[in-house]
Amino acid sequence: MQRRNILVVGAGPVGSVAALASARSGHTVTLLEAQHRIDDSPRASTTQPPTLEILAELGLIEEYIRVGLIARTFEFWDRPTLRRIATFDFDCLRGETDFPFVVQTEQHKLAGMAVARLQAMPNVEIVMGCSVTEIRQDETQVTVVAGERQFIADYVIGADGGRSTVRKCLDIEFEGYTWPERFLVITTKFDFAAALGCCYRSYMADPQEWTNLFKVAGDDLKGRWRAVFNTREDESDDEALSDAAVRSRLARIHVPEGDREYVHLNLYNVHQRVAKSFRTGRVFLCGDAAHVNNPIGGLGLNSGIHEAWDLTGLLDKVLREDADPASLDAYEHRRRPLNIEYVQEQTVANKRRLEERDPVQRARRFDELRAAADDPARHKAFLMRASLLERARRAVRH
Ligand SMILES: Cc1cc2nc3c(=O)[nH]c(=O)nc-3n(C[C@H](O)[C@H](O)[C@H](O)COP(=O)(O)OP(=O)(O)OC[C@H]3O[C@@H](n4cnc5c(N)ncnc54)[C@H](O)[C@@H]3O)c2cc1C
Repeated sequence: MQRRNILVVGAGPVGSVAALASARSGHTVTLLEAQHRIDDSPRASTTQPPTLEILAELGLIEEYIRVGLIARTFEFWDRPTLRRIATFDFDCLRGETDFPFVVQTEQHKLAGMAVARLQAMPNVEIVMGCSVTEIRQDETQVTVVAGERQFIADYVIGADGGRSTVRKCLDIEFEGYTWPERFLVITTKFDFAAALGCCYRSYMADPQEWTNLFKVAGDDLKGRWRAVFNTREDESDDEALSDAAVRSRLARIHVPEGDREYVHLNLYNVHQRVAKSFRTGRVFLCGDAAHVNNPIGGLGLNSGIHEAWDLTGLLDKVLREDADPASLDAYEHRRRPLNIEYVQEQTVANKRRLEERDPVQRARRFDELRAAADDPARHKAFLMRASLLERARRAVRH
């Protein structure tokens, strides 16, 4: 059994980025993935400027942009009246970042391109169809058990998603709650930009049922729209996924009767949870294994990639430059509070803004958005926060 520097559990977008960052620094890396292929179900796609900066450092940015769509603006709408409330333009971040826009690229494409790079590297071992079941560690190394197989590494990164086995093996509590409703994603070829005049990222508030519309490139690069809706709390999964209910939802978002075909449905539970600790000894949690949140605003996966980048940088210093292993404490010290104070708080606020039922509060929130969009300084401040740039710069300063 060959001892590796770093073993990553999970070849999702976070684990594959962590593995690639470590391998590019020259470390020996093992990447273990439970599935036989990368999960390509429609999940996250919104990639914020600081994440694009990381992908540029990893040499992935040209390919990433080529297989996605650039979205310079995002919009808030009032769905019942179909009125645009405010438009925010990332171009005002020029000078703050080389990427004053968001890129809408499906997350499986990121995992796929990172794994393709890893496959060509001699210091990397990738094992697909290998599900981790147990983790043991002492002061010098970690043993990872996957059925009959065992792997030994200096450090382990658990990037195995919201139901993380690594987190469970470490007996770390996943504190927080699950929302009573679920989110339904309808993927369709209907062109919402042409029909409604909305942009590629449009958030439509409605006290009864909100909708978020995103355009992605699709695997054929021909373009698809994802329409995300909340379900009713008393709506069963079967009901939400029924053809009649899906078509009614499309009708309520002004899709004409003859155009209500869809290519994919995804219904999922939504949580706000943060692991009580991001580390035990030589084993670290990253991405959804460490925290989950509602996807409104596109922050969860982005923050997971920032963590992977931060953690692999710290590990590199310890493994290559002989930095004090105590420096690894910085990972949990900066990442966990940032997630609680920013990602959790912001995504809950984003959800409340869309679903607000009180007419007075609703009008007040719309007025705030309009005022922020109309004032250049507030416009920029709003986007510094929404794009995670403010947070990324804060993490660097620590
Ligand atoms: C159904 C669903 C829909 C979502 N939709 C959206 C959305 O619309 N917008 C948005 O912004 N975010 C969305 N999210 C969240 C977003 O997908 C996650 O933030 C993102 O996937 C996190 O990436 P990750 O690499 O940390 O984890 P994951 O992408 O979950 O990857 C974890 C990987 O670990 C593997 N794994 C699990 N257990 C083991 C094990 N024991 N051994 C080895 N490998 C293992 C899994 O097979 C998987 O490949 C959604 C999440 C879910 C679950």
